Amino acid sequence: MQYRRYSLVNDLNQQWWGHVIFFIVVFLIGLCAPMITRADSSIHWKDRFTTAEQQKLRAWSSEVITHVEKLVGPLPFKFHINIYRQDGASEPVPWANTRRGHKLGVDFYVDPAYPLDAFRNDWTAAHEFSHLILPYLGARHAWFAEGFASFMQYQVMESMSVLSKHEKGHRYTRSLDTARRNFAYPARPFVKTITRLRRDGKYSVMYWGSAVYFLQINDYLLRSQGSGLIDVLKDYVDCCRRSYGGLYELIDELDSVANYKIFSRHLNKFKSANGFPEYRHLDLAV
Ligand SMILES: [Zn+2]
Repeated sequence: MQYRRYSLVNDLNQQWWGHVIFFIVVFLIGLCAPMITRADSSIHWKDRFTTAEQQKLRAWSSEVITHVEKLVGPLPFKFHINIYRQDGASEPVPWANTRRGHKLGVDFYVDPAYPLDAFRNDWTAAHEFSHLILPYLGARHAWFAEGFASFMQYQVMESMSVLSKHEKGHRYTRSLDTARRNFAYPARPFVKTITRLRRDGKYSVMYWGSAVYFLQINDYLLRSQGSGLIDVLKDYVDCCRRSYGGLYELIDELDSVANYKIFSRHLNKFKSANGFPEYRHLDLAV
């Protein structure tokens, strides 16, 4: 074989380089290990996918989970990702939902023909995995859960370097401006219009109007304390995520980790303010 013709020095150099490459590979595997393990242990292929498709979808979901946990810390439970096939879709992830209860996790319907980059640029996984940060709050408080996941999705995409800070601000503004334009009840408190918004199928108006609650709190925390909502969430996940109370227990827990009753006080204000929640004074790129 070709390398037999090399001198002893070349052989030693080769061995030395072999060791260096080996340690680099081990180091890289070490870096990737938590991300691979997390997704590998929990993905369920509900339809037939080729090996290459599985690799792509595993890389996508692993990356998103890794960045959710990079922001808020490790989620203290195992979750199951069900992946279904939907060929010929007009987007990489045409439908997804978060499952609660015994088999906690997310169902994704995907068109695997899309390249990895298209999956990375899609907000669905960032949104769905972010739902897992909070406990299930019931249908009555769905606005709170959806507002939260909508707030989180661009934070996660920024962490993934899919969005720059500036692009994140732009995406928030675009989503909020569209929702505000489509909000038809300026004389009513926003939270009191949720049932009508759902009845009218105006889900994105409901999602983004509710996201303003979190954007306002994030802005307030950053200006008053120098650290934002993500830091509060990190402490919350660490101390309290295992508990399964409803919305008001969650608000109490968030108030207590923030060391200030910002969540409860702001919730009262948010619920009574008329019209689409105000966001135009906020710096959405923070
Ligand atoms: Zn959602």
